[in-house]
Amino acid sequence: TIEAEPLIIPDLFEGYPLNYFNLPLHYRNDLKSVLIPYGVVQDRIEALARRIFDDLHIGMPEQLICMCVLKGGYRFFSDLILKIQKDNRLRSDRSLPMSLEFIRTRSYVNDQSSDRLEIIGLSDLKTLKDKNLLIVEDIIDRGVTMATLKKEFEKFEPKTIRVASLITKRRKDKICVFKPDYCGFEIPDHFIVGYALDYNEYFRDLEHICILKESGITKYKV
Ligand code: 5GP
Repeated sequence: TIEAEPLIIPDLFEGYPLNYFNLPLHYRNDLKSVLIPYGVVQDRIEALARRIFDDLHIGMPEQLICMCVLKGGYRFFSDLILKIQKDNRLRSDRSLPMSLEFIRTRSYVNDQSSDRLEIIGLSDLKTLKDKNLLIVEDIIDRGVTMATLKKEFEKFEPKTIRVASLITKRRKDKICVFKPDYCGFEIPDHFIVGYALDYNEYFRDLEHICILKESGITKYKV
């Protein structure tokens, strides 16, 4: 079976040099390296989609409620759902009906995760009661965001809650309070951008997952 645990990117790996990739001119000087190329992200998501499909196929008419955590999770969500839809088209023995929901959170200011968490769009979720829920998130750092979110969703009494995160971070202080059920990659303790992950609303329009340069951090600081 396909691994639900993250593919581990070791501390020694500092990313691929930029000049082997096609990068937008407007960000080229702000990046240190490409940590996870877009193609690798796609391949890993395809594998995760298959694993989720095999684990959670629940049969008609029951839907899996897929919850996208905006904004950072939108690329992962979109690609994951498309790949599950593809499995739904190609398999004639099982299927996974889905409904799609969206909420928005914000916790980061500059490159530090802050203690306040804003959750937007949580009001009308009575439909979650007794349903199977899959929360789709971009990255888990300290795990506070996901732990808080999961607690909020539990109030609506879904039957099951599962969490898929594209990335978890191996923090230097080793303090992380949340482990997702499905994870794409575990990365060293760097601040990363690209593939919808931002730094103060910059870099979402970048395909590859990249490590920022110090000068890039300074340049876009608010
Ligand atoms: P946590 O509560 O787990 O510390 O933080 C999770 C949230 O912080 C994520 O949803 C994401 O928005 C943001 N975050 C954490 N690490 C990074 C990172 O390396 N890059 C970016 N762009 N956002 C991050």
